[in-house]
Amino acid sequence: MGNQAGPASVEDQARKLARVHRALKTLSAGNHTLLHASDEQALLNDMCRIIGESGGYQRAAVGYAEHDQEKTIRWMGTVGTDIRFLESVHLTWSDTPSGRSVAGTAIRTGKPYVGQHILTDPAYAAPAYDPLREAAIKKGVTSVTAFPLRIDGEVIGALVIGAAEPDAFDEEEVQLLSELADDLAYGIANLRIREKHRDAEATIARLAYYDALTGLPNRTFLLERLEESMQEAKQHHHALALLHLYVGRFHEINKVLGYRSGNQLLQELGRRLKLAVKENETLAHAGEAEFALLLPAASAEHAIQRAQRLTTILHDPVAVSGLMVDASVNIGIALFPGHATTPEALLRRANAAMREARPTHDGYAMYTGGQEEQHARRLALMGDLRHAIEHDQLLLYCQPKVDMASRRVCGAEALVRWQHPVHGMILPSDFIPLAEQAGLITPLTDWVLESAFSQSYAWHEAGLDWPLAINLSAHDLRDPDLVERIRGLFSTWGIGPELIQFELTESALMEDPASAMETLTDLKQLGTRLYVDDFGTGYSSLSYLQKLPVDYIKIDQSFVMPMTVSNDSAVIVHSTIELGHNLDMKIVAEGVESQAHWDSLAALGCDVAQGYHIGKPMPTAQFRNWETGWA
Ligand code: C2E
Ligand code: CA
Ligand code: CA
Repeated sequence: MGNQAGPASVEDQARKLARVHRALKTLSAGNHTLLHASDEQALLNDMCRIIGESGGYQRAAVGYAEHDQEKTIRWMGTVGTDIRFLESVHLTWSDTPSGRSVAGTAIRTGKPYVGQHILTDPAYAAPAYDPLREAAIKKGVTSVTAFPLRIDGEVIGALVIGAAEPDAFDEEEVQLLSELADDLAYGIANLRIREKHRDAEATIARLAYYDALTGLPNRTFLLERLEESMQEAKQHHHALALLHLYVGRFHEINKVLGYRSGNQLLQELGRRLKLAVKENETLAHAGEAEFALLLPAASAEHAIQRAQRLTTILHDPVAVSGLMVDASVNIGIALFPGHATTPEALLRRANAAMREARPTHDGYAMYTGGQEEQHARRLALMGDLRHAIEHDQLLLYCQPKVDMASRRVCGAEALVRWQHPVHGMILPSDFIPLAEQAGLITPLTDWVLESAFSQSYAWHEAGLDWPLAINLSAHDLRDPDLVERIRGLFSTWGIGPELIQFELTESALMEDPASAMETLTDLKQLGTRLYVDDFGTGYSSLSYLQKLPVDYIKIDQSFVMPMTVSNDSAVIVHSTIELGHNLDMKIVAEGVESQAHWDSLAALGCDVAQGYHIGKPMPTAQFRNWETGWA
């Protein structure tokens, strides 16, 4: 009991007790708030409120220390005073007159600053603090103390508490309220960590379920959603549909224009699809060049309608690297429960159906059940093809080319045929892709080269010097031994280089322009003549075309055939002819199916014509007869 100042009065003791009591009450209420806080701003507001309500303090405020040039104190929450008012005073925590307030000092020193009397305390001496002091007095605040808020040793701000009585904050109360400030700082740190975790978790979830390129759900997401939707469909006895969309041009565009362009294409298609998708449907980027659309309650008719709608949306050309590109999207449809009862199987069946979709049939197809068998059939066919090549069961057909000015036959194109013992005649458009997949292009090309050289020799012996043009594929252009084999054939058969020519599609050339250029240069050195085939479908640039050592441009039949009815096609044909002539190349039009085609092409100055109007591909043995009839 008692000290040098004499025994404390009962009143004093009671006051002291009351102060400790309110600090304790505040501390405990503060703890409760900390435990339940879910976000930082709410925590600050609650804490200020509690200091006022439970503690009975006149004022509470939390200010954060900004690290701007002025070292501003940013007010986050207040009770008993207005934030905008505090802001208007422009308090800082710098070592200048504007930084001498209790809050600024606490932040700067990292220690509580106890202001016992607002009228006498040096913290409020500067004239700049006049409004603050006046407002405090008006609100009945006499003493103000600030406690630093510390996270990981760094002071992030201050908690300011104001009380009505002068000399309100004795040592014990300051001690307790410091604890409160520490608790608050701990609570803030905790929430910030939790926030970071939440962000990280959200990112991880996004990465696991979403595709960064298109922002769409990915395959994993789709399969999980499919599983749920199948359960629901089962419970409510309805069907659901899965549409599988494949972007046919993606790989080509990637190769020719670069992966950025491929990505651009996917993003644009994704954007269009997003706009077309209804709220209850799930659109996913299901694979590199694949999208999928889940219709959670759909009949076959409904699914077909949606597919038709989507094909029209996707049909419009997409602007990619300055070119207008046809994405050529095919859609396959499979239904639950009719076609499959697990997510993976349904996706597989929709995919199988997609492979049957053809642009000629609006670009979509429904799963029919036979498609996987067809896949098996393809595998069997690959084996048959290998056998056919090895056992000389392919046939060489040829199709005439005619010089338009003189109407004379100026050569023929060698076209391979496969007479299958069971399936009948199979066209190259069906078995060349097969040969590509089965790694059979080199043996196939070798077969064609042998047959063409032997045929050319036979014609030459008979006094008929019609050049025969051989088609080479992209794979051939990458074959390092190709040119050597061709050189060998010329010496074996002893025929001149003007009798064998080569056709290379524009897209094959663009797949690997550098090595294509090398092969073309070597072929050219043998003295042969070269064609750019299917011109107009491969996006080659004029500058690249100029450098190519080629003699002929073959305008693709997809431009020639419609030229008599479509002005766009006529314009393309016209300008290709002009372009070719400017580059000193001759122009061949393929797909000349009628007299009308012939007449239009002749008027445009086209050099050579090839097509059904002149002659269909025929067995080489019939060619002489045909020529006699033509001439
Ligand atoms: P391609 O080189 O563009 O050959 C022209 C194709 O158009 C041939 O189809 C021919 O029959 C067809 N055609 C010609 N005139 C007309 C016409 O007036 N109207 C229509 N509708 N079509 C016409 P085919 O023989 O089925 O060959 C298809 C493709 O298969 C060829 O296109 C070529 O890229 C490839 N191919 C054919 N034979 C060989 C070969 O020996 N080696 C390689 N690598 N590819 C070949
Ligand atoms: Ca050709
Ligand atoms: Ca062609």
